[in-house]
Amino acid sequence: MANTPYPESYYAASANAVPPRPALEDDVETDVCVIGAGYTGLSSALFLLENGFKVTVLEAAKVGFGASGRNGGQIVNSYSRDIDVIERSVGPRQAQLLGQMAFEGGRIIRERVAKYNIQCDLKDGGVFAAITAKQMGHLESQKHLWERFGHTQLELMDQRRIRDVVACDQYVGGMLDMSGGHIHPLNLALGEAAAVELLGGVIYEQSPAVRIERGANPVVHTPQGKVRAKFIIVAGNAYLGNLVPELAAKSMPCGTQVITTEPLGDALAKSLLPQDYCVEDCNYLLDYYRLSGDKRLIFGGGVVYGARDPANIEAIIRPKMLKAFPQLKDVKIDYAWTGNFLLTLSRLPQVGRLGDNIYYSQGCSGHGVTYTHLAGKVLAEALRGQAERFDAFADLPHYPFPGGQLLRTPFAALGAWYYGLRDKFGY
Ligand SMILES: Cc1cc2nc3c(=O)[nH]c(=O)nc-3n(C[C@H](O)[C@H](O)[C@H](O)COP(=O)(O)OP(=O)(O)OC[C@H]3O[C@@H](n4cnc5c(N)ncnc54)[C@H](O)[C@@H]3O)c2cc1C
Repeated sequence: MANTPYPESYYAASANAVPPRPALEDDVETDVCVIGAGYTGLSSALFLLENGFKVTVLEAAKVGFGASGRNGGQIVNSYSRDIDVIERSVGPRQAQLLGQMAFEGGRIIRERVAKYNIQCDLKDGGVFAAITAKQMGHLESQKHLWERFGHTQLELMDQRRIRDVVACDQYVGGMLDMSGGHIHPLNLALGEAAAVELLGGVIYEQSPAVRIERGANPVVHTPQGKVRAKFIIVAGNAYLGNLVPELAAKSMPCGTQVITTEPLGDALAKSLLPQDYCVEDCNYLLDYYRLSGDKRLIFGGGVVYGARDPANIEAIIRPKMLKAFPQLKDVKIDYAWTGNFLLTLSRLPQVGRLGDNIYYSQGCSGHGVTYTHLAGKVLAEALRGQAERFDAFADLPHYPFPGGQLLRTPFAALGAWYYGLRDKFGY
């Protein structure tokens, strides 16, 4: 069977060493079969193992092969749509539950890193940067909103204060979240996978689930083996394809691209981001950046609807980086890669149950590093029979993309073009 390697990224090049994992070539029995070894699958597996379940993880390629091993590494709290929008669409009780959970994912990551001694360059501090006065006004109301749900560690920054933390002249202000921060995303996934194995979980790599036999005793088939399980967790996100057709209609894979400079040296790195916080701007099509452990600038942005791979990533992202930091004009780009995240129409996660025993969580629409860690906990709670928090997510309404499978990509791109124009003209 073909051995799918990691894409050539800075993360793959600086990954911690891990032992090879076998492909499934047998029939095995387990309590829970998790499909996908990204953060959703690994976080679910860890919480389940900590609660006494027997867990088998099937990964089509390698641990962290998907978005979890390629992302910007930014620990961004809350969801891709904010709690006021949730409140308007689902009412106060459900919004209260979801609002209380909005900062839990970041805490879970920190607990995991500490408990399992995961070496992933964890740093505290994330900045939301406002390019327009309107965006600054939005951050002010977001701070009040988050404080209503008990998240009080936020600091608004005016134009002078934000210059202390990021050497970029584009911003009129921002908001600092010290419970945000950043990590080496692939090393976090690899560390979590090691923790799964430490607790007795089994991970098979190069083992795609190709068919699910549904029913009271479901079976997941791979090309050379089977897993019989009491429960299945589907955690393949943007890389899942059509394995579960019900899910594909209400979500759409999208690509986003990241570049990494050569090492900048301590002085230049510190001049850009003196406190080593990560930054994302407040545009609809946002730019995000941070320093790596070895002082490179990791800069991401752009969205390709329908997840086609752009031919020249550096040509798309480097101009964005130079707009933020013209002082990097002579700096070489060492790595450029693309990865897929899963978009839903509401930009809220798609969570639920098919029949009695197939659970899923996917589609966090861009901000997923924290949510996926929370999702693992919430899914594990549901399998243990405590489904109140799971239901708060599962009850969020989801709709198919207009245009169906054929036209959803141009329709979504049109929508994004409209929002991109609004960003450009400061609306
Ligand atoms: C380039 C990029 C930058 C991003 N930056 C940020 C950021 O800075 N901050 C943030 O909060 N979010 C960011 N995100 C989003 C975040 O990375 C994702 O939301 C999150 O990692 C999704 O995790 P996941 O486990 O659900 O999916 P994935 O990490 O994509 O994992 C899914 C896994 O399932 C496997 N799989 C799929 N189908 C099957 C199958 N049939 N059988 C077995 N295995 C299967 C895949 O191979 C893959 O390994 C970014 C995303 C991308 C692509």
